[in-house]
Amino acid sequence: MPGVSTSSTLRATPFSASDRADVNYSAIKPCDIANGEGVRVSLFVSGCTHHCKGCFNPSTWDFAAGEPFTPEVEERILSLLAPDYIQGLSLLGGEPFEPENQAVLATFVRRVRERLPGKDIWCYTGCVLEQDLLVPTRWRTAVTDDLLSMIDVLVDGPFIESLKDISLPFRGSSNQRILHLRTTALCATMFSTRQRFRTSEP
Ligand code: SF4
Repeated sequence: MPGVSTSSTLRATPFSASDRADVNYSAIKPCDIANGEGVRVSLFVSGCTHHCKGCFNPSTWDFAAGEPFTPEVEERILSLLAPDYIQGLSLLGGEPFEPENQAVLATFVRRVRERLPGKDIWCYTGCVLEQDLLVPTRWRTAVTDDLLSMIDVLVDGPFIESLKDISLPFRGSSNQRILHLRTTALCATMFSTRQRFRTSEP
């Protein structure tokens, strides 16, 4: 994933009590201009099995890295998102679409949508949308479609070192795509593909 770390990154802070230690996050950037349009709050979740050569953030590969993503952390991010100068939320990692991460992120993104409907959501994934997320693979879960439906912009594809291009905005290698899921015809394609998938299920 082509995210960029800067000195403004806030490392995860420990929480004393958590009923939901199943997803960890590695960092929150409260004022990020590198990972999506405008000024954004970026959440780096923990866990990634892509292991791209030359990954910008290998410390997030470990699902146990960082700290638990608790409801208190969610509230902190919602507060960071509130100011008018913040355009939206970016989800990075790690891999937001690791099956272990999807349900918690879907619930959280829904909270963001409900509380702050004017904010947009960007998500970076090492998966390729059509190959990994819309057809039966280990990446698809019961909430994959739900999570995708709430994302405005998906930056997809693994980081490929031989295709690295630092001139590209918001991505690290030229194979990666910036997909405007909610504003282009691709959205219709997605639903069509899902429908074919659903009708083939038992
Ligand atoms: S998907 Fe992103 S976080 Fe995972 S290995 Fe590739 S570049 Fe690194």
